[in-house]
Amino acid sequence: MSDTIQKYRDYVMTGFVKSVAPIVIETASGAVITDVNGREYLDCFAGISVVNAGHCNPQVIAAARAQMEKLIHGSSYLYHVQPVADLAEKIAHIAPRGLTKTFFGNGGAEAIEGALKLARLYTGKHEFVALQTSFHGRSFGALSVTGNMGRKKRGGPYGTGVAFAPAPYVYRSQWPNDPEECGRQCARAIEDIIRFATSGDVAAFIAEPILGEGGIIVPPLNYFKEVKKVLDQHGILFIADEVQSGFARTGKMFAIEHYGVTPDILVTAKGIADGFPLSAFTTRPEIAAAYKPGDHLSTFGGNPVCCAAALANIAFMESEQLAARATQTGDYAMAKLRDLQRQYPLIGEVRGLGLMIGVELVRDEKLTPAALEAEAIRDSLLRQGVLVGVGGAYGNVVRFQPPLVITRMQIDQAIAAFGKALAEVTQSVAALPIS
Ligand code: PLP
Repeated sequence: MSDTIQKYRDYVMTGFVKSVAPIVIETASGAVITDVNGREYLDCFAGISVVNAGHCNPQVIAAARAQMEKLIHGSSYLYHVQPVADLAEKIAHIAPRGLTKTFFGNGGAEAIEGALKLARLYTGKHEFVALQTSFHGRSFGALSVTGNMGRKKRGGPYGTGVAFAPAPYVYRSQWPNDPEECGRQCARAIEDIIRFATSGDVAAFIAEPILGEGGIIVPPLNYFKEVKKVLDQHGILFIADEVQSGFARTGKMFAIEHYGVTPDILVTAKGIADGFPLSAFTTRPEIAAAYKPGDHLSTFGGNPVCCAAALANIAFMESEQLAARATQTGDYAMAKLRDLQRQYPLIGEVRGLGLMIGVELVRDEKLTPAALEAEAIRDSLLRQGVLVGVGGAYGNVVRFQPPLVITRMQIDQAIAAFGKALAEVTQSVAALPIS
C-alpha cells in the first residue's frame, strides 16, 4: 500500500465518500489526472465541479506565480490589495445587472454564511425559505438551510427559522410531462410555505439555480420568474447559490441567466479561481451597505494569490468562450447519453445544462432509485480510468461535471466507458436471484 494511503488512514480525518481504491494523485493537466503510479484518469468530475478552465491551467498558474513573488497574504480587509480591487471590479461587470459589490471568503459554506447574515441585517428579518433536496455547505448555518437529508445527516438539530419548499424536480413531481406546470405549482407552494410554515419574518429565499448535490435538478424555465413574483410581494430577498453552477459551467457565466431573473445576492466559489480556494458573495450597493465596519471579516478572505488566479481564470473563460463551449460539448454528451438511455432501462432520465449533467438511474417504472447500481457504475468507471461523481437526493444520480476544456474525443472515451459500465451492472443485476 502506498505510503500516502497509510498516512491518510493514520492521520487524516477521512469523513468523506468511501472509495474502492483511493487514487493518490500526483499531477493533473486539462481534463486528465495522473496518479503516483503513472496511471492516467479522465476527470469527469473536475474536483467536484471546480477546475472549469482545466487542471493546472498555464495562464492561471502564471498569474498566481507572479502574484506569489510579490505578496502572498496581507489581510485584504485590514489593508487594500490590488488583485482584490481588480477582481471585485471584474465580477461587477460579469455578474447579473446591478450586483456590483463583493465580499471575498475562502470556501462555499463561508460565503453562504456571509450572505445569510447580510440578508438578515439588510431586511431586519430573520427567517429563511430554502428548497428540499438543496445543498449549501457543511457549516452550521449552511446545513440549517440545506434540504438534502442525505447530505446533512447527523449533527442536528440545526438552526431554527428555516422552512423548506418542494424542489421543482420535474422527473419525480406530479407533472413529469409538464415542466411549466411543475414550475408554477412549486413556485405557488412557496406562497403557502411563507403563510403556514413561517412567522412571516422571512429575510431571504435561498436556492441553487441548478441543484447540484440534489442530483443535477434543472428547474423549469418559468420557475424562478414565478418565485420572484412571490418574493417581491413579501419583500423577501433572493439568494442564488451559484457555488456549483457558476463560472460558465452551465453554458452561461451564471446559471441564473438562463432564467431571466436577477438575484439580490449571488454566492460563488468552486469555479471562481480554477482550484485556488476563494469564494464570494456579490450584491447591490444598498444591500452591501447593511454591513457596517466590524460586522464581517475573513482573515484569509480575498487572498491576493487566489484573486490573481481568479482574474486569469475569468480572462481565460472569456477568451476561450468556455461558456459556449460548455453548451456545445454538453449537448453532444447528453445526446450520446440519451442514445444509451434507449438501450438501458436503468437510465431513467438524462438532464442538465452545459457540462452540469446528471444521469438518474432507476430500477423500474415506479422510479425506484438505483443507488447501488450508481455506485457500481462509478466503481466500474474508476477501474476503466474515468472519474465521475454520484449524488442526488436518493444517491442514484451519476454526475458528469468535467473541466469545460474537455474535448469531444475525451467525451467519446467517457461515454464508451459508461456504456461498458452500464452493460456490466445490468448483467450483474440480471444474475441476482429474485427475492
Ligand atoms: N453550495 C453548493 C451549491 C455546493 O455545491 C457546495 C459544495 O458542494 C457548497 C455550497 C459548499 O461549498 P464548500 O464545500 O466550498 O464549503
